[in-house]
Amino acid sequence: MVWRSPPLRTRRSRIVADSGRRHHSSEGTPIQPRFEQEKVNDLLREVIKLSQQVGQLEKRLDKTGSVLRAVYELVSVELQIEPDVLAETLAAVIREKAERAEATCAKCNRPLGDKTKCIYCGEERPAESIFDVL
Ligand SMILES: [Zn+2]
Repeated sequence: MVWRSPPLRTRRSRIVADSGRRHHSSEGTPIQPRFEQEKVNDLLREVIKLSQQVGQLEKRLDKTGSVLRAVYELVSVELQIEPDVLAETLAAVIREKAERAEATCAKCNRPLGDKTKCIYCGEERPAESIFDVL
């Protein structure tokens, strides 16, 4: 007669052996220094690239500010617009923008932020001015 061990006992002992082996291999595996260095180098390259892009954007923004000022100088003379009128108009635009950012969704009443579509229910936000769709 051939003796056979019960299946449950066999399975359990195999699991113990497997988990022991797994534990040993994960504990004995050193962190690969080369892999870590490559990751650091990738991140450094990404930071340098982003830093260059920020510099380019600053230059473009500065140039755009200069063009805007030149346009204002021309238009203000032509239309007799005083600087305080420009300041008041700018304040009104900023106030309107802040109010728009505080608005809630017409469908679910959750905050919309500056989004054109509700991130919670997908409801489209109606545009109130041409600048909302630009
Ligand atoms: Zn919504």
